[in-house]
Amino acid sequence: MIRKRMKLYSILFGVCPKCHQESMYVTKNPYVLSDVIKMKEKCSHCHTKYEIEPSFFYGSMYVSYAVAVAFAVAAFIITFVILNFSLTVAFVAIVLTLIGFMPIIMRLSRNIWINFFMSYNKDLVTKSKTEKDLAKKSA
Ligand SMILES: [Zn+2]
Repeated sequence: MIRKRMKLYSILFGVCPKCHQESMYVTKNPYVLSDVIKMKEKCSHCHTKYEIEPSFFYGSMYVSYAVAVAFAVAAFIITFVILNFSLTVAFVAIVLTLIGFMPIIMRLSRNIWINFFMSYNKDLVTKSKTEKDLAKKSA
């Protein structure tokens, strides 16, 4: 259902927004808390620079707000509406959800932010493949 070449693929898996070939992050697991937002400088396949301009990812804080609200609303609906718990329990569930999913929310918002500005380009995939073939032939 979700395949490479779809924006959603890059957003959900945190791969390069232009070629979808490799992760933008140094560590794939977002729960390695020291590396949550450590990103590679460039894509090794298509050489796309992720930080388009200095402090580019500060803008992802706007997205982060929307993503966090979506998680909070989901937690509220599950605990209060579906499971019929009290408002206090729903509040605690929202707080725990926001803390527990914090690394995922941070990465999702960065992925969404960079995908506002970059799109998949199939030429970059084929170009990087031919570059590799040339490198193999010359080696
Ligand atoms: Zn790339």
